[in-house]
Amino acid sequence: MKNRRVFLVLSVALFVLLDACQFANQNTETEIPETEELAIISNKVYGFDANIAFELIEKQLSFGFRIPGTNAHKQCSDWLFSSLKKYCDTVYYQKGKGVNPNDGKPIPIYNLIGSFNPKANTRILFASHWDSRPFADQDDKNPTLPILAANDGASGVAVLLELARNLKQKKTALGIDIILFDAEDLGNAKIENSFCLGSQYWGRNLHVPNYTAKFGVLLDMVGGKDARFMWEENSNANANWILVHTWQIAKELGYENHFQFKAIGAITDDHKYVYEATKIPMIDIIQYDEVSGFAPYWHTHDDNLLAIDKNTLNAVGNTILHLVFNPPKYP
Ligand SMILES: [Zn+2]
Repeated sequence: MKNRRVFLVLSVALFVLLDACQFANQNTETEIPETEELAIISNKVYGFDANIAFELIEKQLSFGFRIPGTNAHKQCSDWLFSSLKKYCDTVYYQKGKGVNPNDGKPIPIYNLIGSFNPKANTRILFASHWDSRPFADQDDKNPTLPILAANDGASGVAVLLELARNLKQKKTALGIDIILFDAEDLGNAKIENSFCLGSQYWGRNLHVPNYTAKFGVLLDMVGGKDARFMWEENSNANANWILVHTWQIAKELGYENHFQFKAIGAITDDHKYVYEATKIPMIDIIQYDEVSGFAPYWHTHDDNLLAIDKNTLNAVGNTILHLVFNPPKYP
């Protein structure tokens, strides 16, 4: 993912947003007594668990560098597919081909898709990319060597797999699609459309003909310590009502320190290509600060497990879980 035209400001007054909030705490298991012991058991059955999400990041990193065309990439892809299969009603293993923008060589592209309630007409799309960047171009040391991408890739996938585990336990009538896009992070900022190859491929080859959803949420870099998420310009232009609603849910849950009502510039990420192909309005929950930009470990060798904080995973995971059970009114 790359950012363009980064500019800032426009703090949004909260009172403007209150109308839009349909938030209600509908998804607590009220029949379980609220003792500490039972709450822990309940949390294992239903409830976003940041410990599980953290382990899911560790697991992805255990395959090594998830670079398209490598053995680690194929092995991780197969594991992700089997993980989705455990929880979702229908799964799709989309196998495509692309071209590596760095050397012009062909690469496999594996988009992994898991659906709940595949026949439901009202659908929400959640997505993240699962590949890892093949070089550390923002690092002073060893910039040509690959990065582990604990945050930039594995964190969003982990949150979505933990969402899937929850949706297996607690049913929703909504159609939910989880897409793990491949080949997002091979790009070169000087080459147009060289990022997000997996979502571009999916846009040309929808897993279901004429696929659509009411809206989409992309997670990218959602596990970093003290991460701040702001209103990215493409999201704001195409899906403002979803931003408002999602940030309001986060506020109600007490995550205002992460989800800030501030606007930032446009970021080229998978949500842009999903929107271009399908016109599904989609937001990007992405760590980006209006002052310092991406995190200091972004596209460096420091994007490893030490960069991950369970509090951030919890804030994002809990917010999107509540979003499923408290969706916005559709305009
Ligand atoms: Zn990246």
